Amino acid sequence: MTAELPFLPFSRPTIDEETIAAVGEVLRSGWITTGPKNQAFEALLSEYCGGRPVRTFNSGTCTMEIALRIAGIGPGDEVITTPISWVATANVIIEVGATPVFADIDPLTRNIDLDKLEAAITPRTRAIIPVYLSGLPVDMDRLYDIARKHNLRVVEDAAQALGSQWKGKPIGAFGDFVSFSFQANKNITTGEGGALVLNNADEARLAEKYRLQGVTRSGVDGIDVDVLGGKYNMSDINAAIGLGQMKNLEKLTAHRASLAQHYFDCFGDDFEAKYGAQLPMKAFGSSNWHLFQIILPDNGPGTRAEFMTRLQKEHNVGTGYHYAPIHLFTMYRERGFTEGMFPVSEKIGRLTVTLPMFNAMSKADVERAVAAVKAVLAK
Ligand SMILES: *Cc1c(COP(=O)(O)O)cnc(C)c1O
Repeated sequence: MTAELPFLPFSRPTIDEETIAAVGEVLRSGWITTGPKNQAFEALLSEYCGGRPVRTFNSGTCTMEIALRIAGIGPGDEVITTPISWVATANVIIEVGATPVFADIDPLTRNIDLDKLEAAITPRTRAIIPVYLSGLPVDMDRLYDIARKHNLRVVEDAAQALGSQWKGKPIGAFGDFVSFSFQANKNITTGEGGALVLNNADEARLAEKYRLQGVTRSGVDGIDVDVLGGKYNMSDINAAIGLGQMKNLEKLTAHRASLAQHYFDCFGDDFEAKYGAQLPMKAFGSSNWHLFQIILPDNGPGTRAEFMTRLQKEHNVGTGYHYAPIHLFTMYRERGFTEGMFPVSEKIGRLTVTLPMFNAMSKADVERAVAAVKAVLAK
């Protein structure tokens, strides 16, 4: 009977009519690539990040790669990150010629375990890439204590964390490099896109070069290339979407928090004990609630695939899983990683399920998702 309700996806972007009209204006304007809309979007993001320099890009992957390049990280250098992330986080380390090193996650936050991170530091470690999974920051004080103590650069993979806070300060408004993604499922989207928060004007200039073929222009017709850049600029079509989306950041972050609260209320205090499943941390005040993820019971009524299939077939409720442990992908196994190296990541990678959470979702949708989860876990 619930299967007859419309499909409830785990994520869906919301673009308002005003933003759609703004995109139309860009398309009619005669200037659709990087231009005034990007300048305005960068200025807005910079203002949000406490005045720090921000540059836009066409993904939240190249942002991290470019941050590593700006930091001068390459062959012979080690970079520590988490196995539980989108594979982009580790791929960029390989892309610049450095060596990825993983540290296992904390079973409660599901973010990199900072004790294990510190234990993984060697004389070759140059940088760390923490990931704020589902929008939950790590202990930022501890993170930067470790970075300072060991003289490491930090590239924050804050792809999921625009709108998240640490002790009242927005993620992006402090720290070292901070990378955001505006991919379609993120809280704020540009269709595809990313932004990198930098430390000073020199880094920002270098970021601009890496963004566009290493080019520096001067005067009327001056042009030079002194570093190997790529093609990573954001179009004004995308930036116009971002400008329209950013207007709603505060409102939608609050809405997502209220949906998360409703999830906790509907699951109830006895859910974990009764079903053997695990809810996320109640990180109100820090998380932007990008994802609402539960961990299925290890000896539940079926596999995760069966759980996801039944939720969809019997209740028309969509789910996702974020993420499969990176170190077990073929390309990483070929670099020497194997099963058993990061047991917490492997367990959570096998049992994590992402429930519906998006800006246009209602409390009734939450109730429907919770009822479906309970029904499937009950048999
Ligand atoms: C989305 C995401 C990325 C990659 O962002 P793109 O814009 O898709 O390149 C990287 N890391 C995490 C944790 C993400 O969620």
